[in-house]
Amino acid sequence: MTCDQAAHAIEDLSQILHSLSQQLAHGRSTIRITRRLPALRRFDIACSSCGSGNRAGARFCQRCGALLNAAPGYGAGHVQSRTLTFTVAARTDTGRVRHQNQDSVYTGVIPLPDGQQAYLCLVADGMGGAAAGEYASRLAADVSRAYLEQESTSHPPATDAAWQALLRDAVRAANRQIYDAARTDAARRGMGTTLTMALLVGDRLHIASVGDSRVYLLNTNGVTDDGAPSAQLTSDHSLVARLVDIGQLTPEQARVHPQRNILYRSIGTDPSVDVDTRSEALEPGDIVLLCSDGLVNHVSDEEIARIALGETDPDCAVMRLVSLANERGGRDNISVVMVRVSGER
Ligand code: CA
Repeated sequence: MTCDQAAHAIEDLSQILHSLSQQLAHGRSTIRITRRLPALRRFDIACSSCGSGNRAGARFCQRCGALLNAAPGYGAGHVQSRTLTFTVAARTDTGRVRHQNQDSVYTGVIPLPDGQQAYLCLVADGMGGAAAGEYASRLAADVSRAYLEQESTSHPPATDAAWQALLRDAVRAANRQIYDAARTDAARRGMGTTLTMALLVGDRLHIASVGDSRVYLLNTNGVTDDGAPSAQLTSDHSLVARLVDIGQLTPEQARVHPQRNILYRSIGTDPSVDVDTRSEALEPGDIVLLCSDGLVNHVSDEEIARIALGETDPDCAVMRLVSLANERGGRDNISVVMVRVSGER
């Protein structure tokens, strides 16, 4: 491990420890501290963009999101602009255990000044007692959508970097409002939410994410090392995801880990927030899928890909995914947004 990689790993762990201390300070009592400290492990693949280490088999850099190994038919560069059609389905469900649904989803058109349109999909997974989590996720959705609408109409970005900067600003506007609301209202103290957005503009997909709600890009070309038609474009900002990265947990152990809900990055818990962003090319036949952890706690990546690609109707696919999570216990709120991309190749 290089000094840079060790520094990144220690920085990640210090973020986790800071988050745990904040949660304890806010009265959380369910954090279990064990004597077993995570050992830093030598990483197998170095990212050519940022130099960070990644575990063997990873397709995308866990730090900067860059593609680690280009696969045939899945380039990271720009493609010729063309007209694509997006068919969208969304569903949010309380699940079988919780009494409230603290998830929020949104899908809708963002008008651009030249008569073009962008399409926004969003999932937010709120946390906080009473109705605070529900309020936080709804506020995150409303504030970020309104910010995007206002700015895209008056100053539409022209590049991937500019779209990503706009998404980051939208997420930060939501963070500020929720942070302020949590500080000024005792009933809402400590509330927070994840916020994951996918903005489809022409043949480009722009993503912003904080927390552990995910975006997948699925297609039949096969985009993972083992040929599975699945790629998670977002990093989970959760304790268990980092423990998987440093080899202390397997993905299967992480899925059922009692501390899987602990996030070290979320919206509304700090006055400022780091936002992950990235852009990808879209092709006819692609499926963009957003979901909250209520889905992935019960349904594997392979099952998500098989159902999403196997159904021609996105509504049916979304319904089947939510039903499967409920059949397996529905421990948490379940949200799924799916976009099927069609057009001429
Ligand atoms: Ca959740």
